[in-house]
Amino acid sequence: MAYELCDKLKKLTPYDPAEGTYRIRLDANESFLPLPDEVIEKLPKVIERVRFNRYPDPLASELCFDFAQYYRVDPQSVTAGNGSDELLNIIANSFLQRGETVLTLAPDFSMYGFYAELAECRCVRMEKGEGFRIDPDAVIERANQEHAAMVIFSNPCNPTSVLLDRDSVRKIIRGVNGLVVLDEAYMDFADASLIREADRYDNLILLRTCSKVFGLAAIRLGFAVANPTITRALRAAKSPYNVNSITQAIGSAVLSEPEAAHRALEQILISRRSLYGMVRELAEKYPGKINVIEPQTNFVFARYEDAGELFEFLKKNAMIVRRMGDYLRITAGRNHENVEVTQKIDEFYAGRC
Ligand SMILES: *Cc1c(COP(=O)(O)O)cnc(C)c1O
Repeated sequence: MAYELCDKLKKLTPYDPAEGTYRIRLDANESFLPLPDEVIEKLPKVIERVRFNRYPDPLASELCFDFAQYYRVDPQSVTAGNGSDELLNIIANSFLQRGETVLTLAPDFSMYGFYAELAECRCVRMEKGEGFRIDPDAVIERANQEHAAMVIFSNPCNPTSVLLDRDSVRKIIRGVNGLVVLDEAYMDFADASLIREADRYDNLILLRTCSKVFGLAAIRLGFAVANPTITRALRAAKSPYNVNSITQAIGSAVLSEPEAAHRALEQILISRRSLYGMVRELAEKYPGKINVIEPQTNFVFARYEDAGELFEFLKKNAMIVRRMGDYLRITAGRNHENVEVTQKIDEFYAGRC
């Protein structure tokens, strides 16, 4: 029998992070820091204690407790995921039913639309306003007009790095007649989190990740924070052993060293400030060619004249950043990386003056 893939699968292509080898990788918003010394020292003991022959704790109780301690929330409101990516997948496939509508904002994280479509939902993309600002009233109106079962957005936003203030986010949650998924993947770098109040809403799932400030992208670890009813549903809908024992153990070790995490955060913020300063200087040196947005994350988003050619020029010089149309998103890296990439951008525009 000739087996044929269904239409929704035929359309898909495997996720393809920038292929090839680059000397400088500032394309994925990872942390440039190794694990802190305190954690490295504990690591052999942590791994030794893992019971490799046993299935992991399905609820990752100790890990969720450590996460809850770190952010000072109730552990009962926390669900761990194999990266927040897995949580997005679970949410789309269990909180939505086929044919329902999901409202996404544009530009925003591309995985939202991907999982919504995989769950056979209708995805409505609403363009953001001037300066990529989100207008809460417009979002509420559109969501309810489209009968959206779910509204999802990142705050601060990947890729724009723009932050929406707390009151505006609260307004959206209260105004939307559906589930709101608030992706705070970058909120460690900004100050408008709703994590401490997330379990007080009846229609909110708040997502966090350990892939950015904690430098744990490799072990895949993310969290959802929500009220007890939603949390129970999330735990019921996930696969039982979604977070492996090694991830649980290392995640716990990292989250129990808050001072080390704060140190890492400081270093990343220093890098961001410095990269932002360098890009701003270029914008002044080449008027009208670069338009940079003040960053609230661990990357710098800017519009570049001839962004496509610039992107290829950087690649030719073994440097990879993320391109979105006329915009480049550059992850804050080590100082020499920030210096080298901005020097290359300088060279690119100097060569055309
Ligand atoms: C990086 C990122 C995540 C984190 O994904 P993980 O699966 O936890 O690594 C989630 N949302 C956004 C917008 C991101 O940029």
